[in-house]
Parts: sequence; structure tokens; C-alpha cells
Amino acid sequence: MATTLVTGIGSLVTNDSALGAGPLGVIEQAAVVIDDDRIAWVGAAAEAPAADTRYDAGGRAVFPGFVDSHSHLVFAGDRTAEFDARMSGQAYRAGGIRTTVAATRAASDERLADNAAALIAEAARQGTTTIEIKSGYGLTVEDEERALRIAARFTPEVTYLGAHIVAPEYAEDPAGYVDLVTGPMLDACAPHARWVDVFCERGAFDGDQARAILRAGIGKGLIPRVHANQLGPGPGVQLAVELGAASADHCTYLTDADVDALASGDTVATLLPGAEFSTRAVYPDARRLFAAGVDVALSTDCNPGSSFTTSMPFCIALAVRDMGMTPDQALHAATAGGARALRRDDVGVLRPGARADLVELDAPSHVHLAYRPGVPLVRTVWRAGVVV
Ligand SMILES: [Zn+2]
Repeated sequence: MATTLVTGIGSLVTNDSALGAGPLGVIEQAAVVIDDDRIAWVGAAAEAPAADTRYDAGGRAVFPGFVDSHSHLVFAGDRTAEFDARMSGQAYRAGGIRTTVAATRAASDERLADNAAALIAEAARQGTTTIEIKSGYGLTVEDEERALRIAARFTPEVTYLGAHIVAPEYAEDPAGYVDLVTGPMLDACAPHARWVDVFCERGAFDGDQARAILRAGIGKGLIPRVHANQLGPGPGVQLAVELGAASADHCTYLTDADVDALASGDTVATLLPGAEFSTRAVYPDARRLFAAGVDVALSTDCNPGSSFTTSMPFCIALAVRDMGMTPDQALHAATAGGARALRRDDVGVLRPGARADLVELDAPSHVHLAYRPGVPLVRTVWRAGVVV
């Protein structure tokens, strides 16, 4: 197995406080040794061991690859007109998803896979090395199972979201749709997924329906995560904590009791500023969550309706500017936070044994991710030891 020494790192974020300074475990004038797909060594450049090949980062910043723990990449169709209308004054409602459902059902497997692959490549160029992908634009047994099979070609972090909205065919019989989602659709989908998710929101699924859907998924060995409290206050966050969900996602409207529940449980609060940006909504204040000791992740929510961005650097800039995160908190949330939201300890961190997922920034510090918004600063990305 070949080893590579990445040296000349001006500022290395390890996310391991045992390896460097502060919560980000920062090492100045650092080096990393990659052995095959893993990190073999991390430390001061002056003490680095020899390796087969050498890469000089020229004083630039290096940090763990982004872990995007929330995306909806299996879809077809375009919702430019809807975005345009919304930016011209219309309010966002959950039902716009139906447009994408119709286009997705009509698309071939190849079309869906090609679209997902293009978006994953776009994300990788911006530093994303781990990505979660949900279903949710099929809403039939066959189309949901197909979406999960396609997602699984790209990532092990596959989420069954048959309960994205009530399928149009069941508009007059939402209870019947819940029976489908918790019955035959779950049976077909569970073998292809690791996670089960539900859009717990007015216009989608209420607390009782969401509980039934998540419990059914748990019964099939899936781990819950919840779209919660995006469009208004609701039961989603507390349901997520009650069921031991890995993550409650959005968390835009939180009561003090919601924050307390998150702080007391094992559920990560995943913030998705691209959604607030793209729907011109009010951003949640991340400072409340950090002050309460809640674990926070940051993700793109990439989807064609309410957040059509694959860019984690963009989300970091928004989180710093509009959610009150410090640049350090935002980078941690986008890397180690995302890993925690996916219950992974091999990504989002640069320590011996972790997967060799690194981002080299064309800047001296990771702070430039927010300081220079919209600028393509990502210079080199290694995923499992291979340059992307
Ligand atoms: Zn989502």
C-alpha cells in the first residue's frame, strides 16, 4: 500500500482536541500521512515520518472533508419557475414537492442516476466527501424502492422518506397512505436503507402519523431522523428525541422545551440554512442551541424545491452570517457535526485510523470559508485517500 505525506499545511483542523488546540484540534505547520484509504499519522510537519510520495500544501489550510448529512438527490425535473415566483412574493408551502414527484416518476433509472451523479460530483468539488441521500419523490412502492436502490449506488447513508408528503393518489385518504408507508412500501424499501425519515409538518404528517411511521421503520431495523419544525412550531423535535433519532433536521422554530429536549437527548440538531435562504424564511438562532449544549450539524438539504445548492461552503457562510455561528462552530458542524448526525466516527475527523477525507483550501485559514463567501476556494479534495 502506498503512503502519501501531505505537508506544508499552514493550519490543520483535526476535530480532535487531543491532537491540537481548541475544540477543532488545530495544528499549525502540520502534516498528515495517508496510507491507502486511511489516515496513518497526524502532527507537526517537522516531525513527520517519510512516505512514498509527498504533497506540499504551501502553507494552505486543510480540514476534514464535509459530511453533508441531509440531501434529496434522487429526482428529475426543474422548479426554477417556482423559485422565481417565490422570490417575487409567493410563500413556500410543502406541496411544491408534487411537481418533482411527477417528473421523478416519469424519469428512467439512468436519468435519475445521472442527475444524482452530477450533483454528487458538484458537491465533491466543493469539499463534500460523505453524503446522505433520501428518497421521497416516488411515493409509490416501486418508485420509492427504485430511488433507494439508485441512492445506494453512491452512498451507504440511504434514507427511506416515503413519508415526504402524502402521495397525490391518497390526497383524500392520508391514513391509507400512512398504512402504505408503514406496510408494503416499508417492506420493499427497508433492505436498501439505513435510515427512516418523515416530514413532520403542517401540510405533510402530524405527530401521531410521524410516530407511527418512525416506529414502523425502527421495527424493520432502520434508525430514525426527522424533518422537524421547519415551517412552524410542532411536535417533530420532541418526537425525534423521544424515539432516539440520530438527528432532528431544520429546527427553524424551536420552543425552549424543544431546546431542552435536544440538550437532554442524543439527537443532533441539523441546521439547513440553504432552505431559509431559498425560501426567504427567518433563520434559526444557532447560538441558542450552542448555549444549551446541543450537538449541531450543518447540511445543504440539497433538493430542487427549497434549497438547490450542493455547496457546504455556502451553507457555512450563511450559518456564520445569519445563524450566529462562529466560523469554528460552522466548520465543526459541517464536518464532525454531520458525522455525528450520521453516527459515524470514521469521517469528519483527521486522526489515525479515520478515512483519509481531506480538503485543501486556497487560503491560510478555514475562516476564509465565511470570510470570502461565494469564492471557489476548495483547491484539492481527497476522498478515501484518492484525489477527487
Ligand atoms: Zn430535507
